[in-house]
Amino acid sequence: MQISEKAAYVKGLIEGLELDPKDKQTKVFKVIADLLCEMAEEIKDLGQCYDDVCDQVDGISEDLAGVEDLIGNVPGEVDYDNDAMSHSDMAYEVTCPTCNETSYLNEDALTAGVIKCPACGELLELGYSEDELDDADDEPGSDE
Ligand SMILES: [Zn+2]
Repeated sequence: MQISEKAAYVKGLIEGLELDPKDKQTKVFKVIADLLCEMAEEIKDLGQCYDDVCDQVDGISEDLAGVEDLIGNVPGEVDYDNDAMSHSDMAYEVTCPTCNETSYLNEDALTAGVIKCPACGELLELGYSEDELDDADDEPGSDE
């Protein structure tokens, strides 16, 4: 017999006593019987929820095991990261026009467009490629 059935049985027993409906004790018995029935229903619902959650946790555990297998089978992941880092650290040589000191820049500094010379502190604009192109392609004296 389930809890809800037992509660209903107790409620039936109390009603079967045919207690005086005007008696205060009868009222207490009825309230207790109703409360028992409600609690039994609530417990039944909770039990159903618990079963559902257990099923979902089982499913998640299986999925997670699959993911763990997948991660375990990719040993080269860290190597890829190192490769990417050495690529972004690749140095570019820039000669400061103020102090003639040669600096090595990474890709990030080049993207920023302007860097500070580590030797003399002069701000260097990295638009050198245009000047070089002008020098190479322009006819002599066309600037003036
Ligand atoms: Zn400099």
